[in-house]
Amino acid sequence: MSWKIQSHSTELEDLLIEESLFFTGNGYLGVRGNLEEGLDELDKTIRGTYINGFYDIVPITYGEKQFGFPDTQQRLLNVIDAQSVEIWVGVGNEKEKFSLTNGTILSYVRTLHLEAGYTERKIHWRSSFGSEVIITFKRLTSFIRKELFYQFITLEPVTGDIPIKIISTLNGNVTNFTDQNDPRVSSGNAKRLQVEKIERLDNNNYIQLNTFASNLSTAALSTTSVSAEDVSYSHYVGKESITSTATFKLTKKVHVDKRTFYIDSRHEPNLLARLLTVKNELESLSFEEIVGQQKDYLQSFWKHTDVTISGNDSIQEAVRFNLFHILQSAGTDSISSISAKGLSGEGYEGHYFWDTEIYLLPILTMTNPHLAKQLLLYRYSILEKAKNRAKEMGHNRGALFPWRTISGTECSAYYPAGTAQYHISADIAHSYIQYFLATDDWEFMKLAGIEVLVETARLWLEIGHFYKGAFHIDAVTGPDEYTCIVNNNYYTNVMAKQNLYWAKKACYLLQQKDEIYWNKLKQKIAINDKELQQFQEAAECMYLPVDDTLQINPQDDTFLQKQKWDFANTPKNRYPLLLHYHPLTIYRYQVCKQADTVLAHLLVEDEQTEKVIENSYHYYEQVTTHDSSLSSCVFGIMAARIGRLDRAYDYFLQSARLDLDNTHGNTKDGLHMANMGGTWMGIVVGFAGMRVKETGLHFRPQVPKAWEEYTFHLQFKNRLIHFQITEESFNINLVNGEPLSIYVWDKKVKVQYEHSIVLV
Ligand code: BGC
Repeated sequence: MSWKIQSHSTELEDLLIEESLFFTGNGYLGVRGNLEEGLDELDKTIRGTYINGFYDIVPITYGEKQFGFPDTQQRLLNVIDAQSVEIWVGVGNEKEKFSLTNGTILSYVRTLHLEAGYTERKIHWRSSFGSEVIITFKRLTSFIRKELFYQFITLEPVTGDIPIKIISTLNGNVTNFTDQNDPRVSSGNAKRLQVEKIERLDNNNYIQLNTFASNLSTAALSTTSVSAEDVSYSHYVGKESITSTATFKLTKKVHVDKRTFYIDSRHEPNLLARLLTVKNELESLSFEEIVGQQKDYLQSFWKHTDVTISGNDSIQEAVRFNLFHILQSAGTDSISSISAKGLSGEGYEGHYFWDTEIYLLPILTMTNPHLAKQLLLYRYSILEKAKNRAKEMGHNRGALFPWRTISGTECSAYYPAGTAQYHISADIAHSYIQYFLATDDWEFMKLAGIEVLVETARLWLEIGHFYKGAFHIDAVTGPDEYTCIVNNNYYTNVMAKQNLYWAKKACYLLQQKDEIYWNKLKQKIAINDKELQQFQEAAECMYLPVDDTLQINPQDDTFLQKQKWDFANTPKNRYPLLLHYHPLTIYRYQVCKQADTVLAHLLVEDEQTEKVIENSYHYYEQVTTHDSSLSSCVFGIMAARIGRLDRAYDYFLQSARLDLDNTHGNTKDGLHMANMGGTWMGIVVGFAGMRVKETGLHFRPQVPKAWEEYTFHLQFKNRLIHFQITEESFNINLVNGEPLSIYVWDKKVKVQYEHSIVLV
């Protein structure tokens, strides 16, 4: 049961949410779970197919444009639509199109197969004229051949011979979804692609589209074939779409096989040639064989990534669902990342934020480091642009990564909650540090890591300054977007401190390890001992205040002096606050959208005492709305850290089923990817208490009351380690690799090959 996600609903509202929940993706291509037959209420559906990182450039218009505001932004594009396959049942006056609103649905079930990597809709349908068919739609995007989107439809007659017409479309007339009233969704410039080529080529339908402004192209090649003996085909090439029509008599089970291959010019200059090659390579493989490939791929993924939970099926289901979707959305080509909604929808315009580094890289670094590395390399691929942006923002050196982007330039039009979030540069540095601590991957550090650490560290020297002996950072916004442009945001300062410390340390380590390489790199990035010394001084003197009375870290210099938000008199329907109050109203109060200082205590816990961490948790919990889906998981982890296991479990539940239960009300715009990573963190970082530190792997294992046991694997420095945690025991088994020492409740423990340690 827990390897499947199922739905029996044909309600419009559920179908819209399921477009995201049942999307299929492979890190390159993402196809929303729209219906082959379409929906009657077309204005409500968000029909979408996306290629990771495939964008157009659109202008940003401002009423009052100031210096340094970006002129343009990128938008992830909805590309060629191959999903449509209409099934017409009967002839003449007794002909009817299959749809969920025509005829009668006798049974309906939709399934996402997490082990096999495909989705399925099985419908027993009776037309208004009495013809009965069982229709099964299966579809997948291949993890092995990333270009492939495969639809495989089976028709079974229930009431004798039935005349059937199939109309399969490849549609190049595509637009993006817009919503004027939600800042989390784009509000204009919907159509950004025009047809460059549209033709029948041998037995294929081919469309190439070009973007309006970014000079990019995408193409799709599609074929539809039907296994019936008496089938006849016709094709129509229109101005923007091509349809293939197949007519036949349904006397026994028939398969409709539709294969569509996608490519774009960021990955391949010769679009058509690549598509023909991939198509030919896969020609001889059946749907079952392609599913077989998916299963093999996923078997290896689950071996490293699965988390099992005994005692709660609905949580088990949710956890696997979240893990699977992370895989489906993670870019694997070092020029793409994971957007806020992954490849499941268009919310936040397909932009990459800090979500990847702080919420998704923890799981990927610790379970699939090869995937993590690709995402880290994506940031390296835009380092030059980040350096240019730093200059544009008035800094002499360093890298300022954009708050939101696809191709590397800043896409945020609202700088107080955008560009001002300088912490993203330290977040990227943090993810590099964590990856290095977990893998010892020196090749990566030489190739990209040290450069990124140094360039981000330089930014802090540029923006920060010494005041009364301490290093201050002014006029930034921390993660909490309900408090903007402040001095000494604790989160930013502590993350900058870590960034500065590690930039110096990594250089020093490389010097010891490979002096020749260090000398080369030193020249390339023009670094000298004086600057390294400055990194160290700024780190050592970083201003990290503690409020003497409350014994907490103030979120920033002025947070604690503001009035508290009047939560008691804020009706439920006024949340999220951002949709109901002017930003200035919100900024005047102590009210947090999401974890800020509490997140800092998770990421850099050794800077504060237990007392300050605990007090801060309680303080900020009172003033946080969790209007961002990036919040609950962090509070849950920190609740576990301070021993509030019941509270931790409440938060964990909110995070685990957030999309499955649409608790934020906007799952139709796409899945909340950061929260999905946060669910894994809730278990491994929260309940098991894992931290990756310079000293090694640390754990503080606990078990929520509702569970009997939970298990997971981690990869750490070329080892695969299995963990099993019950109320009574913490079993650690080294599956492969050299023995190592880890820390359990601060006690050093040696982990051996095929050897379980039971700690009671
Ligand atoms: C959050 C940001 C986040 C963005 C994209 C916003 O609502 O406040 O922290 O990066 O969503 O997920």
